[in-house]
Amino acid sequence: MLDRRTIVLADGSVRSYFALPPDYQDFAPPLPPRPLDPAAAAAGRFLPGAPRPEFGGLPGPDAFRGGREELFGRGRQPQDYWNSLGLDSVRPGPAEGPSKRKFGGEGEERDRIDDEQDKARKRQQVLQYGNPDRHPGPGPGPGGSFAGPSGELFRSSKYGSALESVRLKHLDVDQAKLKKAFLHFVKVINENGYHRRNYLENGKNGSLKCVACGRSSKEFQDVHGLIMHTYNSENADLHVEHLGLHKALCALMGWNYAKPPDSSKAYQSLPAEEAAANLEDLIMWPPMVIIHNTITGKSKEGRMEGLGIKAMDNYVRELGFMGGKSKSLYGREGHLGITLIKFAANQSGLKEALQLAEHFEKDNHGRKSWTHLQPLTLGKDDENNPNLVRVDGTTGEKRRIFYGYLGTAPDMDKLDFDTRKKVVFESMRECLSSS
Ligand SMILES: [Zn+2]
Repeated sequence: MLDRRTIVLADGSVRSYFALPPDYQDFAPPLPPRPLDPAAAAAGRFLPGAPRPEFGGLPGPDAFRGGREELFGRGRQPQDYWNSLGLDSVRPGPAEGPSKRKFGGEGEERDRIDDEQDKARKRQQVLQYGNPDRHPGPGPGPGGSFAGPSGELFRSSKYGSALESVRLKHLDVDQAKLKKAFLHFVKVINENGYHRRNYLENGKNGSLKCVACGRSSKEFQDVHGLIMHTYNSENADLHVEHLGLHKALCALMGWNYAKPPDSSKAYQSLPAEEAAANLEDLIMWPPMVIIHNTITGKSKEGRMEGLGIKAMDNYVRELGFMGGKSKSLYGREGHLGITLIKFAANQSGLKEALQLAEHFEKDNHGRKSWTHLQPLTLGKDDENNPNLVRVDGTTGEKRRIFYGYLGTAPDMDKLDFDTRKKVVFESMRECLSSS
């Protein structure tokens, strides 16, 4: 009986979720409770008030997957809702009795006391998560057996998007300001390699601070703590900044920014492709293609030397990319073997950059190939490595094979200091869709 609805997120993408139809009260009552995994039932029973990650923080039951607002409706009191569930007259019938006696193992007197406590607990849960009893209703199934791990409890996770009907705070702020704050913090949290790793390693190397609060920040033990702070910050002056940082942190961690964070940590699950797409969308601006393997060898003094700007400018022009300007990157040891090709900071510049990246990708010389190649072979006998150097069959001339891809947020650490200071970030999707 659920309606599938769609919601347009701040970044312009569209998500769908399930909600109760407006006239859900007219529907026939749901089917009797289904069997439950006894272990989960026991866990829920002995940890009243504890977070229940198995629900994914969701309103659990089939009939009430719409979230609290849908659940109660505007102006409808929670009390009415409880009454409609009949929680005050919970019967010690099949929904409560057998499994308890069977798995609680404490005798009937204890069960009766537990029932009273359960009622109080249920009120709390109904308020927090919707009514958990509708679907994990215990009791022997048709064959006297209990549902295993594939039972209802676990099925709820695939409706994770239902939680999105708890309104995302990002939707209630100035979208232009939010975007600005978001892209600003994308740079801030990716700029420093040490801090970036510390986020990715969940604060292993030292407690985390909120870069929106700056010096006055509290310290957080892990990224979840920091995320909860950024999403729920009560500092009105920095509200949009905190939401922008929340989104940037979620993008870095591969988490779902569109799902309000809570103790269930359901927001931390996002399909790998979506997480990767969110990162790939955050491109360096002006758009630039990062080209690797542009070294030419060591000088007599032992410094690394590489192809210069002229040679690389000619190279991209010969390929037909007239708008690209190259810049060689140098470190202490000399040429880093990296050349940036920068394009104009507008849509046509981005399109040209994308075409150049596509040129490398087509030849199997894109980001993936470079990542695979790098840790295995680089630095050892490069001249004779067919992945790095191509020898012309007739002239015997050796030429470096270039690898290239469009620069995105995680590539910040490849840049030299100067470029790193100047670069900003843009959303590729937004840039391409604007006219
Ligand atoms: Zn803060």
